[in-house]
Amino acid sequence: MTTAVPTLGETAHRLTRKGQDLQVRVMEVAGGAEYGHVLVFGEAGDGCLVRVHSRCLYGEGLGSDDCDCGPELDKSLDLIWAEGSGVLVYLEQEGRGVGLIAKALGYRESQRSGADTFTSYERLGFPVDNRSYLHAAKSLQELGLARVRLLTNNPDKAAELRAAGLAVIMEPLLTPVLSARAAAYLDAKRRRRGHLIPTSDVPWAPEVQPVFKRKSRIWRFWTMRGQARRRRTLPASK
Ligand SMILES: [Zn+2]
Repeated sequence: MTTAVPTLGETAHRLTRKGQDLQVRVMEVAGGAEYGHVLVFGEAGDGCLVRVHSRCLYGEGLGSDDCDCGPELDKSLDLIWAEGSGVLVYLEQEGRGVGLIAKALGYRESQRSGADTFTSYERLGFPVDNRSYLHAAKSLQELGLARVRLLTNNPDKAAELRAAGLAVIMEPLLTPVLSARAAAYLDAKRRRRGHLIPTSDVPWAPEVQPVFKRKSRIWRFWTMRGQARRRRTLPASK
């Protein structure tokens, strides 16, 4: 067995998902495996679909209904599979970058007090969002990508990739809301972090959803406008 780091091509294999086969190649995220891995599906080239995803054991591994991480990852892979190519950057940033124990403490505080998870993190002395996407941006650039269609509802994620030099078009993720707790979490993400949240079964974005279904360019216009409006109404303290 060789100890040399394998090239991307040497990891190529087929992966079956929901009955459909796709080639995948794997490499460590820039900076090392402790930051995560990059999975390149099919012949992903410039302008391809990209999901930059932070680990969430509850949402992905345990199938929890309390957040949208599992559905977001699932939907992203559905779209990549449908297109036949794309990139998943899977980052080891559990609990918004402060770990599973902090997440558990945050959940406990939220369930005891009724506060949203961002407020709970603040009360516990944790940074509200400690995630970084710089390693992801560097990895995408190492793949030769200058432009990406980013599967996300998070404007901060797009902004950080843009600041690192990538041209980014946001591709919204329409996912089912699995529980009342998940709905509250999505609402907190919208209010506290400016997420766009174009889900069909939440009432807070009626001006976004019908247009999104018809024409994505107009949707982007509306969501940028909505984002600017929401930013103005965000509380001064984060
Ligand atoms: Zn989650």
